[in-house]
Amino acid sequence: MPTPSTDTPELLSTPDDLRRWSTASRTAGRSVGMVPTMGALHAGHRALIDRAVADNDRVVVSIFVNPAQFGPTEDFARYPRNMDADLAMLAAAGVHAAFVPTVETMYPAGLVTGLDIAGPLGARLEGASRPGHFNGVALVVTKLLVAGIPDRAYFGQKDAQQCAVVCHLARDLDTGVEIVVCPTVRDTDGLAVSSRNVYLSPEERVQARAIPSSLAEAMGRYEAGERDATALATTVRSHLANAGLDVDYVAVVRADDFTEVEKAAPTNQIVLAARIGNTRLIDVVRLGVDTAPVGRGV
Ligand code: AMP
Repeated sequence: MPTPSTDTPELLSTPDDLRRWSTASRTAGRSVGMVPTMGALHAGHRALIDRAVADNDRVVVSIFVNPAQFGPTEDFARYPRNMDADLAMLAAAGVHAAFVPTVETMYPAGLVTGLDIAGPLGARLEGASRPGHFNGVALVVTKLLVAGIPDRAYFGQKDAQQCAVVCHLARDLDTGVEIVVCPTVRDTDGLAVSSRNVYLSPEERVQARAIPSSLAEAMGRYEAGERDATALATTVRSHLANAGLDVDYVAVVRADDFTEVEKAAPTNQIVLAARIGNTRLIDVVRLGVDTAPVGRGV
């Protein structure tokens, strides 16, 4: 039976530290769970951590704002960082170790190896809006799995295309790691919890409710029998535009490869990205799987 740690998590700074910690755990017959994060921890991260603590004898949470997955004009420099609060949360959650490397440790000078997520999964939607993003995600996740050799690694459904990328890479590279995808955690008004929500002004935070309510409206139409993917996407798009959001994309996709469908079916996902002022947010619902993220008509 897994036992949450009652001590302060052990602080690991280098991939070698992480490998030694994990090897010692596994040699002692302990299963290892890993939760990769970029810090500024919130209730969504906590849900992944709680699941990992319940499933595994030892849990390591990584906190690393990964420059390789940010574009040159994106928010790497201003991304929220809150290490003291993060470490306090990990201690309260019973996490055994925190892996907190520097950029120089993860990406030393002379690094020549990269990864390429091929096909529509890497190139469409988030991949089109954020060129190179998934290659950066794939590189850091691979490095974490190689050094951390976990039995299981935990990711959030909120970043749906990232989950698909990670599931593919874990299989493609024969990692043997079980990828566990956890449901999206939302605030009471339905907005998915995100480290980037702190960028929103109070007025923008209210405006952001249109994101879950647009998805709820489309789910309502799906449940009423609408199967035309264009009609469902148009519902979301119009709802967001009416609320003054700047829509990046809305699509109805297959969960495994993110190709767009014409007829919506169970397990297909409605994915979206939209801007409110300078803040870009993403969200997703799984048709026939998720309940509506917020009451209809909000
Ligand atoms: P991040 O720190 O934003 O890179 O997120 C680290 C992990 O937490 C990723 O697997 C995310 O998908 C997951 N995550 C972020 N927000 C949520 C949320 N609201 N619900 C569930 N998981 C989340």
